[in-house]
Amino acid sequence: MAEGQRESLAGSGVARGIAIGRAHLLAPSELEVRQYRIERRDVVHEIGRLTKAFNEVRDELTLLKSGIAPDAPNEVRAFLDLHLLILEDALLAETPRDLIRNRLINAEWALTIQLEEVVKQFEAIEDEYLRGRSTDVRQVVERVLNALAEGRPTRVALPTKLAAGERLVLIAQDLAPADVLHLKDRADIDLAGFVTELGGPTSHTAILARSLGLPAVVGAERARSVIEEDDIIVIDADNDAVIVNPSAEELTGFRKRLREEGEHRTQLRKLKGRLARSSDGIAVELLANIELPEDARDALEAGADGIGLFRSEFLFMDRDELPTEDEQYESYARVARAMKGKPVVIRTLDIGADKVLTEAARDTLGMGRGAPRPESNPALGLRAIRYCLAYPELFLTQLRAILRASEVGTVRILVPMLAHAHEIDQALAFVARAKEQLRDRRQKYDGRIQIGGMVEVPAAALSVAAVALKQKFLSIGTNDLIQYTLAIDRSDSSVAHLYDHLHPAVLGLIAHTIQGGAKAHVPVSVCGELAGELEMTELLLGMGLRQFSMHPAQILPIKERLFELSTKEAGRLAGRVMRESDPVKIRAALERAPAP
Ligand code: PEP
Ligand code: MG
Repeated sequence: MAEGQRESLAGSGVARGIAIGRAHLLAPSELEVRQYRIERRDVVHEIGRLTKAFNEVRDELTLLKSGIAPDAPNEVRAFLDLHLLILEDALLAETPRDLIRNRLINAEWALTIQLEEVVKQFEAIEDEYLRGRSTDVRQVVERVLNALAEGRPTRVALPTKLAAGERLVLIAQDLAPADVLHLKDRADIDLAGFVTELGGPTSHTAILARSLGLPAVVGAERARSVIEEDDIIVIDADNDAVIVNPSAEELTGFRKRLREEGEHRTQLRKLKGRLARSSDGIAVELLANIELPEDARDALEAGADGIGLFRSEFLFMDRDELPTEDEQYESYARVARAMKGKPVVIRTLDIGADKVLTEAARDTLGMGRGAPRPESNPALGLRAIRYCLAYPELFLTQLRAILRASEVGTVRILVPMLAHAHEIDQALAFVARAKEQLRDRRQKYDGRIQIGGMVEVPAAALSVAAVALKQKFLSIGTNDLIQYTLAIDRSDSSVAHLYDHLHPAVLGLIAHTIQGGAKAHVPVSVCGELAGELEMTELLLGMGLRQFSMHPAQILPIKERLFELSTKEAGRLAGRVMRESDPVKIRAALERAPAP
């Protein structure tokens, strides 16, 4: 085809890398929604149409879900589950029926009235992530409308001409996760990536792209007016850009980058079986942070030396009943077994602040001081170990489950948000009590299970000498340590610009904790996001850190980096940085560090 005009578009790159392919434009929802009044005698028929359409969409999503490959990322299943949940929600499933009955209008009309109502409610939510979920509701409703317009395909239409071996770049106003999956699974299509006009980095389509490793740019306004069917498209997700019909010279450059990226990924995979060490031979442990038992697969896939942080609270969230001891045991044991003797550090419940139980689950906690009330300042309130100490049965149940799982692997217990020595004493007393209960029941556990604590409150970092005395290991939670040191609410976007991991106070507390642990011969890891940031690897190594725990996806890139760093050089860098008090100079010192 004739070469079209070169253009470039900006948006948010949501998965790393480059994709090159031919554009296929998806029409925006082409549904003109028919609106008409009905007779009272037609109410049953109209409600029947709506029910049938809901059922069809449910069947479609369920079928799609059953076809997901067992090794597909968890997000894939999670998004389909979310769309199924939206479909079941009474606000969408029931209210339109009432509207049909009471206002005598057709099913499509009733559904769109209710859609606008629900979307309005979502858009009033302050939380950006939740607000973004209105897109999911729209996508689900569109599927139902499609099903109502009988005979219309509910799947994405395919491009008519695509040469053999050519890859496809999808251009759409927005894409539902189910549509991405339909295309990703088609054997006759090689989906390279996609560009959408709507959506931000936290939209589900964006998250899905990231977890499938598909380069994508979202929020590229005007994409469908600038791009034409069959245009050559380059998605440069690293630079948040879409290039339409690049020049031959540019295309050669992008193809070269694409090849290099592929080679780099192959190189990284080769590192999987190698133990991480610095260029001067110092061993470093690279561990994975996980949130659900099934994430252990990603950890193994990345060759993790163990699980450095299992955020157990995710087993407790989004449900109305608390998980029983047996259910928890199954989850912990599943991870312990999967890791085959490698250490699995299970953090006890870190609920409170931004991670909350449902109201119904909280009602079931009618013990101790009564169900917790909403707090004015939850990050500083009843959170993590404070919460567990306030609800002894909740804590003991979890401890028994973890102890039982210690029988099938190398399990360790990690206590979050310690600030006082007496909190450690109390936590240890609870562990002793849980062991006693298991002994009474003649249930087994590892009698030498290690108990460690998180250093994420400045008080714990400053008193590390005393803190280390009482524990077998320490783990620095830099996400919270930064929040509490700088008094920045980590979930408040209006102060996000002040959340600075290079603030000398933050670096000072991290270094002090690492040194304090070394003096007390207590191993220290970092399990906050900093551990997975390439920019920080040399500095943390230079401070003496030998255990890094991070998102599984970061393990191989960090390992590659470590092979190129010498602990001596890193130590010198840390010395220089720690003498600086100006974050700008600290940043400059890190940038000046010889590129590995
Ligand atoms: C941290 O605070 O750094 C941490 C690892 O825990 P979370 O992010 O779950 O609070
Ligand atoms: Mg934390």
